[in-house]
Amino acid sequence: IAEVKATQKRYLSGMSSEVKGYQLDSCFGPGGCPNRAYSGDALSKRIESLLKQEDLLGFLKNNAKSDLKFHHEFRITFSDCPNACSQPQIKDIGIIGAVVPLITEEKCTLCKACVESCAEKAVSVDKNREMPIINSDLCLKCGKCVAACPTGTIASGKKGFRVLLGGKLGRRPRLARELGCILTDDKAFEIVKECINLYKRKSTGGKRFAEILDDADFNELEGRFCG
Ligand code: SF4
Ligand code: SF4
Ligand code: SF4
Repeated sequence: IAEVKATQKRYLSGMSSEVKGYQLDSCFGPGGCPNRAYSGDALSKRIESLLKQEDLLGFLKNNAKSDLKFHHEFRITFSDCPNACSQPQIKDIGIIGAVVPLITEEKCTLCKACVESCAEKAVSVDKNREMPIINSDLCLKCGKCVAACPTGTIASGKKGFRVLLGGKLGRRPRLARELGCILTDDKAFEIVKECINLYKRKSTGGKRFAEILDDADFNELEGRFCG
């Protein structure tokens, strides 16, 4: 309780001196979580340098109507698998590590380890054709079936990131929308850069990215990065 009170005091007084303009965090994947699908460590370092360079604190100081609060900060989070422990759905930008399963020519033994490994029921086995079938609409790109397959019939395809844009909590909460493709490290870095530019162009009075990102912006970004 002492810690809660200390935090409360910190929030109610002098919060603006602690605001740094952005928040960048991640799930526990970097600590060695066995569920990691694809690591965001390298990309996170690049994005942190970008965030420092962009001086979002200076931007907010010039734009926010009131004293700066933590809720003004631009938030980016990394989750290294679809379990999404760091809540990418409610951040300005949520980045989820992904691995697309790829069916190869290696002979399938019909062991069904892949079927059992998939929490989404996205994998089935075609006994006649002696091969697995993956329903891409259900697949969340966690890579569990890849790890489970003993023959290499299901292998790692494209690795990268699912990217979600425009989530927030607060008075008018909103879930982030997901782009319809997997981005490489470089592309994910580029879209973060574009989103910061868009935010700086359109945000006034301390408005969050979720409030200024409209359908046209989202569709334009999706067309450009996923087209
Ligand atoms: S999001 Fe996935 S990798 Fe990250 S801590 Fe949660 S379960 Fe582990
Ligand atoms: S990658 Fe994950 S969600 Fe997709 S089929 Fe394999 S186990 Fe299922
Ligand atoms: S794809 Fe791999 S895990 Fe799935 S049934 Fe065939 S051999 Fe077993």
